[in-house]
Amino acid sequence: MHLNPYGEDAVNLAADLANRRPVTAGELADRCRAAGLVLEHPVTPQDLDRVRATLEAWVRVVDAADDRERAELVNRMLAESAGHPRLTDHAGGWHLHYRDDRQPPGAVLSALISVGTALHLVGRGMHRLRRCAAGECATIFADTSRTGRQRYCSQRCANRDAVRRHRAGRAGNRSRDSGKAD
Ligand SMILES: [Zn+2]
Ligand SMILES: [Zn+2]
Repeated sequence: MHLNPYGEDAVNLAADLANRRPVTAGELADRCRAAGLVLEHPVTPQDLDRVRATLEAWVRVVDAADDRERAELVNRMLAESAGHPRLTDHAGGWHLHYRDDRQPPGAVLSALISVGTALHLVGRGMHRLRRCAAGECATIFADTSRTGRQRYCSQRCANRDAVRRHRAGRAGNRSRDSGKAD
């Protein structure tokens, strides 16, 4: 299986790695494999460093103040990690690589994350990368919903926030009621 850079796989992998940073090279390799990404070389501590730096830059993209700043930060990531696109069939089917051949896994992942994020944003919408709206949750997610209005990282956070807003609403009513009684 090969990650499709046009799909949501690359940006979802970036969010997963950014939310819970890999601590060892072995962990990074395992989590890439779990996401369906075939790496052709063993992952080294240098690769881990490269990916961690890429994730730092990527989080700044997530937290950008507006579309223009977001585009500028993505362009910077592309300039640092991506090469001109080329056709390859190394994994059995023809697809595009946006990088030079024979790159170590850290460079491959950086190119994949940069290009995947760029394609996600222009394909689905520049706003479709954000943090969870639940107050106590800062989890990053790529919004691949049909409407593009996903606010929470998970159903769990959506439910918890609904309960909180319901309680806040009731508290508001109570203070208004007591105001009337005065
Ligand atoms: Zn490939
Ligand atoms: Zn959340």
